[in-house]
Amino acid sequence: MQYSEIMVRYGELSTKGKNRKDFIRQLGRNVRHSLHDFEGLDIRAQYDRLHVALNGNDSTAVIERLKGVFGIENFSPVIKLEKDFEAVKETALQMIQAQYEPGMTFKINTRRQDHQFEYDTNQINDKLGGHILRNVPGIKVKMKNPDITLRVEVRLNGIFLSSETIPGAGGLPVGTGGKATMMLSGGIDSPVAAYLGMKRGVKLDMVHFFSPPYTSEQALAKAKELTSKVAGYAGSINFIQVPFTKVQETIKEKVPEGYLMTIQRRMMLRIAAAITLARGDKGVFTGESLGQVASQTLESMMAINDVTNLPVLRPLVSMDKTEIIKIAEKIDTYDLSILPFEDCCTIFTPPAPKTRPDLEKTRNFEKLIDVDGLMQEALDGIEVTVIHPGENFMNQSEDVFAELL
Ligand code: ATP
Ligand code: MG
Repeated sequence: MQYSEIMVRYGELSTKGKNRKDFIRQLGRNVRHSLHDFEGLDIRAQYDRLHVALNGNDSTAVIERLKGVFGIENFSPVIKLEKDFEAVKETALQMIQAQYEPGMTFKINTRRQDHQFEYDTNQINDKLGGHILRNVPGIKVKMKNPDITLRVEVRLNGIFLSSETIPGAGGLPVGTGGKATMMLSGGIDSPVAAYLGMKRGVKLDMVHFFSPPYTSEQALAKAKELTSKVAGYAGSINFIQVPFTKVQETIKEKVPEGYLMTIQRRMMLRIAAAITLARGDKGVFTGESLGQVASQTLESMMAINDVTNLPVLRPLVSMDKTEIIKIAEKIDTYDLSILPFEDCCTIFTPPAPKTRPDLEKTRNFEKLIDVDGLMQEALDGIEVTVIHPGENFMNQSEDVFAELL
């Protein structure tokens, strides 16, 4: 069907009272950004709904994009007609036929703003319903929970028909929740945590630690590519890479094996916190999930969290791995995440890290290294790249996959 516009209904933001204006403005901006490469669209974010006039663009492609914009509860492709009732009947019938499968039920739901129109609401329901019953063999009317609801709105400027409600991504528009940093590894969990953080309206800066030559170029490229996958929800994302080799080598040399992991994590979080403050961000997201590995017990979290007062947000804290994987598959990061390029943590993880590190001992062992000097050196070496949705970083990625399979 050639639709004239997509009508977008807001999600949770409608309940946000005085912030409502900001939310609608931000959502409008995000929708415009996500559809920037379509020509001739007319996007209007109004008080109760957002309208995307297609002006000849293909609705399917626009719908796919809209599915990735947080803050949208659902949306409907709409056909706008002149006030010609014969044309309304014809189009209504086509819309139903496009969706009808044997045994389905329907109802017509009319709203009339234009009281000059030749028929009132009941007459419109009756006439359109009758026309459909006569022309779609087997279809039945059902008032409660029908399979298809055909909405008819008679407005001053035309008659609008829609028969489909497509679920949106939910959540809050990215940007309305402020900015934070995300500690992004190349694993399964952190991209999912990033997705969930953005879903609550937070704009994220990615911080990634890498340790050449212990970690490969491909490991770095993988983290960038994961960022480009989730950038679809955010527009674009700053990717901040932090050289971590010197820190890890020093810790490995100076600190007892049982505390290597805890102290490495403290250094990561310290550096991430410094970057957070320097950028004016307000918190640090991680992909940690309680009990998943040695560094993710409550005792470990306490010993690691000790280095900062910033909120450390862990969207996956109570999720099972299977639940996390389900989301990773949905957001299309899973296949990339499972490519086995060694991460900086895997390489320097001792065979038996302490699952219950002692806070006092941790603090004392850390005195064996030059915390401030190492931190400064790492911060001096950071590089920032702006990553856009769908950008590719894994060169010859097909060969890479082929080799691994
Ligand atoms: P993930 O799948 O996200 O890598 P994981 O289960 O492998 O998580 P860890 O390796 O223990 O768990 O890492 C826990 C969290 O620490 C990660 O989710 C991420 O937020 C952060 N982290 C780990 N490695 C890095 C890294 N190289 N750069 C930035 N953050 C990291
Ligand atoms: Mg990991």
